[in-house]
Order: sequence, then structure tokens, then C-alpha cells
Amino acid sequence: MLQTTTLLTLAPESAFMLLKAGAALRALPVEEREDGLKLTLPWGEVVAAREAGGVRLTLSASDRARLHSLQEAIDRPLDEAALCPDRRWSFAETGANPPNMTFMAVVSCRRLTPSYYRVRLSGPSVERFAREGLHFRLLFAPAEHAGEWPVMNEAGRTEWPGGMGAWHRPVYTVRTIDAGAGTLEFDVFAHPGGRVTTWCETLQPGAQIAIIGPGGEWYPRAGWMALFGDETALPAIARILEAMPEEGAGIATIMIGDPGDIQEMKRPEAVSVRWLVRGRDAGLVEALAALEMPSADRFVWFAGERAETAAARRLMGERGLAKTEMRAAVYWTR
Ligand SMILES: Cc1cc2nc3c(=O)[nH]c(=O)nc-3n(C[C@H](O)[C@H](O)[C@H](O)COP(=O)(O)OP(=O)(O)OC[C@H]3O[C@@H](n4cnc5c(N)ncnc54)[C@H](O)[C@@H]3O)c2cc1C
Repeated sequence: MLQTTTLLTLAPESAFMLLKAGAALRALPVEEREDGLKLTLPWGEVVAAREAGGVRLTLSASDRARLHSLQEAIDRPLDEAALCPDRRWSFAETGANPPNMTFMAVVSCRRLTPSYYRVRLSGPSVERFAREGLHFRLLFAPAEHAGEWPVMNEAGRTEWPGGMGAWHRPVYTVRTIDAGAGTLEFDVFAHPGGRVTTWCETLQPGAQIAIIGPGGEWYPRAGWMALFGDETALPAIARILEAMPEEGAGIATIMIGDPGDIQEMKRPEAVSVRWLVRGRDAGLVEALAALEMPSADRFVWFAGERAETAAARRLMGERGLAKTEMRAAVYWTR
């Protein structure tokens, strides 16, 4: 096991509250201990213990990429709340690229259906993108830092040339992985003004791209599942359906703009797929409102545009779904 540790100069109760809130959001297991907490994340474990001057965080994971993903999961909420900006992590490979970043070469970029490109990348350690997170980020440097890449500083934190906010880091879903061939595929929904769409239009084999991950959620699990999403969520829905056990049941409802984008998706027999066409059919939130669902062993998942997702999240609460039975994820913002 690899470890990294830092001292958070925070009142222990505030630190514990922050960690528990983060864990509750992702339905992560939390173990209360005499001197603090233990959290189990997809990449490893976080132990938080009272110490003179604050709370000692100790992160353990089986490799560097996982350890760094775990650290990022802790750093992100602290940074968003502007807490302990001077924290230093003990595991620091100063000057190295972040261990969860991988350089990939474009193998191909083809039109899959009228609105999608399928991009195939090849590179080292793609097998790690087949576990613990369905998603990754493409990294596009700001123009004035073209050709530069993020590196680790002596505090074990990632430094982004020009500042992280200046980078375009869109999230995509791993659609297929072939660990033997060392390839990974993802599907890009082409939309007007999209910087990734523009990138795909002229993409040539051999082009280099850096990706970071994996991250985000892992497969939701329940005997019965209802999945709702628009074009950006179609790849995630396809992966979740593929991973469902044979005896799984449920329904997937997908909103598309062009009936030509309908795809065959591998799924258990007792899962139906309903395609809605924008402008012709009622919307995803209306479909969610009309959903008939069992009273237990169920999970309702929704991903799409920010305002729609917010409406879906409210509706799920009103329909009596517990936090552990639902997920509403913002995939893009209009
Ligand atoms: C967890 C997660 C997984 C995702 N997986 C996928 C995936 O597998 N495939 C995929 O195609 N997308 C996916 N997305 C959505 C994708 O990250 C966003 O659509 C992102 O904005 C695309 O970046 P861009 O550079 O094309 O557009 P940007 O340059 O970020 O945005 C340019 C303009 O396009 C608009 N825009 C962004 N998305 C859309 C859209 N869908 N329709 C219409 N206008 C839009 C923006 O409002 C903005 O005005 C995912 C998002 C998340 C959070």
C-alpha cells in the first residue's frame, strides 16, 4: 500500500463534518472511530484522526494513480471551500506529471451515427480506465501554454500552467476498453460551439492527447434500475446497461435529437429502452414524473443539462426516493 498524509489545520468537528457530507453525497461508507473517521472510496481509504493542531489525514491506495485520485477527491472540496490552502502532502514527486494523467495517441476518429464521433485512443495503462470510475477528462492547454502539461509541486499538489481554470478539461465516458490492444474508445456528441466537436472535425491518427482519470461514479447497483439521459449521457447509460447482471430489470429512457442516433445496446432481457425524440416527444423530466417504480431494491439515475437535472433531482425527492436510491448528475450547462 502507498500512503500520503497531511495535517488539516481545522477544528476536528468541522473537518469531520466536511468529510461526512462528501461521503453522504456519494453514498460512501463511513466508519466512526474513537479519534476520528475512516472513509472507503473507490480508489482506497482515508483515515482522519484528531492530532495537536487539527486533523491528520492519511490516504492509502495500491498504486500511485489511485493514491493521486484519492488525494484529488479530498483536495477538491477543500479547495472549493478555500480551506487549508497551504496543506502539504507527504507523497510528492516534484516535477513529475500527475500519476493519474496518461498521454494517448489518436488511432481513429469516425462518425458513429449522425450526431456522434467515436474516438479511439491508444496508450499505456489503459486497463485502469476499466475500473473505479466511468469517466475521464481530456486536457486542452490554454493557448499561451500550448505544449505544457500539469506537474506535481513539492507539496504533492498538481500545478496547472496558467492556472487550472484556464484549461479546458471536458469530461467524457469510457465507452470501450481493450486492455490487450491498449485502446480506449469514447463517443463525442457533436454540438454547435463545442470545442471537442471542433477538435474531432480535423482529428488525425497519431495526434497526441493527455487524459486524466478515471473519475466520477461507478456502476449503480439495484435489482431494478431506471436510467434517464440525453445524448451526453447515452455512453454512460450504455455502459451501465452492459454491466447489469442478467437477472437485472428496469428501463432506460434516452432523449435524442435525431432518430438516426438510435443504437443497439447490450442489456438484460428484462430491461427496456425507450427513445424520445426532442421536439416530438415529451421531455425526460415528464417521463420521470410518469415513471412507475417498485418500492424497494430500486435505483433511479438521471444525467443531462443542468436545469433539467435540478428539476429531476427535486422530483426524485418528491417521489420518495432515498439518497441511496437516486443520482442526478449535471453533464453539461446550457
Ligand atoms: C460525468 C460526465 C460524463 C460525460 N460523458 C460524455 C460523453 O461520453 N460524451 C459526450 O458527448 N459528452 C459527455 N459529457 C458532456 C460533456 O462533458 C459536455 O458536453 C462538455 O461541455 C463538452 O465540451 P465541449 O468542449 O464540446 O463544449 P464546451 O466548449 O464546453 O461548450 C461550448 C458550448 O456548447 C454548449 N454545450 C455543451 N454541451 C452541450 C450539449 N450536449 N448540447 C448542446 N450544447 C452543449 C455549452 O453550453 C457551450 O455554450 C459528460 C459530462 C459529464 C459531467
